[in-house]
Amino acid sequence: MKFSIESEVLQILSEAPNQVIDWGVSVVQAPQIWSLTKGEGVKIAILDTGVDPNHPDLKDNIKKGKNFTTTNTSDFVDRQGHGSHCAGIIAAIDNSIGVVGVAPKSELYIGKVLGDDGSGSIQSIIEGINWAIDEQVDIISMSLGCSADPGQSFHDAIKKAHEAGIVIVAATGNENTHVGWPAAYEETIAVGAVNQSLEHAAFSNFGSEVDVSAPGVDIYSTYKNGSYAKLSGTSMATPMTAGVIALVLSYLKKIGRAATPDQIMKLVQERSVDLGTTGDDDSFGNGLINVFKLIKG
Ligand code: CA
Ligand code: CA
Repeated sequence: MKFSIESEVLQILSEAPNQVIDWGVSVVQAPQIWSLTKGEGVKIAILDTGVDPNHPDLKDNIKKGKNFTTTNTSDFVDRQGHGSHCAGIIAAIDNSIGVVGVAPKSELYIGKVLGDDGSGSIQSIIEGINWAIDEQVDIISMSLGCSADPGQSFHDAIKKAHEAGIVIVAATGNENTHVGWPAAYEETIAVGAVNQSLEHAAFSNFGSEVDVSAPGVDIYSTYKNGSYAKLSGTSMATPMTAGVIALVLSYLKKIGRAATPDQIMKLVQERSVDLGTTGDDDSFGNGLINVFKLIKG
């Protein structure tokens, strides 16, 4: 059984343009919260294809990394591009170049669990989850999925992370079918994708397991070898959501409060912006994630 990334590459730019804010980062209203927090003090594990550790728009926010795959094991370099893209959506630095992540001062822990072909084994991902628990991260972001239930040992690792107080965010998948795993587990926040018109992305999986929706079409972010790229997928919606939750957790820390993963799940369910048919539905879940509503609501 194999897990794979949940995205499609649309465009790659090798040169860093003047800094812009992606439409998705704007739509979740992250910039309106940056005067309160940019995600300081929140640790996020990204379990993916690794990261470009020297990317000028990411480097300073990468705190640690480890390779759990069986190739190029001496580093956690992203030779695929997907992991670097997800990293930028969460935490690209607010400077003068490229893009800005949703939580541009959050701390990234990079677990390379997918190989350079974008796929990985159950065992690699379990090891990555256990590492994230050991590193005491606040959030695990998983832009990966498997179309069948990976089994008890995998679910046990997810449960262990959840019990350790880690908010787990996972992609529902891009096959226009039922929600994949680990998103289908009740311990994870399952994220579907919407486009710029806030319509359900045609590829985004559906079902009662979908918890929330986030921007996931034409998302512009960092890429491998210091470049930038536009990608689409529930893979993009997932770190968008992880970044929003990082802002919420950072804000709570600043005001001397905390929240369990179950409390965060409840907040997301109650304070998302309803889309489609009224209330929780199979396409959008509880609606569009919005940090302004989560913090100010
Ligand atoms: Ca930047
Ligand atoms: Ca709805």
